[in-house]
Amino acid sequence: MTKLVILEYPDPRLRQKAEPVRFVDDALRQSVDDLLETMYAANGIGLAATQVDIHKRMLVIDVSEQRNDPLILINPEILRAEGRESVEEGCLSLPGIYDKVQRATKIRVRALGRDGRPFEIDAEGLLAVCIQHEIDHLEGQLFVDYLSELKRQLIRKRLQKERRQRSSMHETRASAPAL
Ligand code: ZN
Repeated sequence: MTKLVILEYPDPRLRQKAEPVRFVDDALRQSVDDLLETMYAANGIGLAATQVDIHKRMLVIDVSEQRNDPLILINPEILRAEGRESVEEGCLSLPGIYDKVQRATKIRVRALGRDGRPFEIDAEGLLAVCIQHEIDHLEGQLFVDYLSELKRQLIRKRLQKERRQRSSMHETRASAPAL
């Protein structure tokens, strides 16, 4: 497995729309394993392929306490969405930034698993939020797109400043849970 580099906002590659996966073969499974390793190494609870510059519709999630229950969604589709709730979100592509976003509270999702077989799941709570957040990445969307332009400007400035500090201090960033 290989740990991949996570793109950070406002990298334009985060805006690219992912292509559907045609075949779930060993090469694709390798990419899925790399995504998982990268997500766990970054202490994230979700990671979309787009975030590591792979533009295929796939994502990985693990919202378990023990960090041992990975969920792999290839070509995910939201079949049903119910309810509306404002939840605070973070993102591995926006380190240290958190804000509230409106999401559906309950969703039904269809996807292919690591074995290439289709399955459906019902999700609510954190898992539902996480799936919606990661599917947005595959569309080239970020959670800050739901915020005002003024807030986005402040976020861009803050990230820029932090990147400068990080490179001058040669320090790795503290890893808070993010998606
Ligand atoms: Zn994210």
